[in-house]
Amino acid sequence: LLNSCSIEFTSIPENVGFARVAIAAFASQLECTLPELEEIKVAVSEAVGNSILHGYRNQQDKKVLVTANIYKEGLEIQVSDEGVGIADINLAMQPAYSTDPERMGLGFVFMQSFSDRMQVDSTPGKGTTVTMFK
Ligand code: ATP
Ligand code: MG
Repeated sequence: LLNSCSIEFTSIPENVGFARVAIAAFASQLECTLPELEEIKVAVSEAVGNSILHGYRNQQDKKVLVTANIYKEGLEIQVSDEGVGIADINLAMQPAYSTDPERMGLGFVFMQSFSDRMQVDSTPGKGTTVTMFK
């Protein structure tokens, strides 16, 4: 582990934008291109948005934790909530699957396309952690 940063913030939608620029600022220490930085921002926004919207069902008094770890091998980003969790992770990750008929169901697709490896750990009633490695 070469460098690490964790931010914990309240589950209000305004903090999606905060998390995305904070993690992008941290990651910009790496030699990454602007398109790569854009991808990081999208991936963080999607994961944090999911925690607030789905995990916490828009309850605004909860906590989201985002950690970025820089390893010799690359960048790891982890987004965690202690929300409702996901019953069927494989189903949730299907392109265009959403539990909300108003939504596109593309968040996991963007996260996946950013990541070389992605893992979703979730326990119903306990919460969800998304780990992306690039
Ligand atoms: P979009 O991201 O396109 O607005 P979406 O959020 O529904 O739509 P995904 O981000 O791909 O699509 O997520 C798919 C589904 O997985 C969600 O509809 C939700 O049911 C579930 N999900 C994702 N993240 C979480 C989370 N942190 N906690 C609980 N459920 C989640
Ligand atoms: Mg989403």
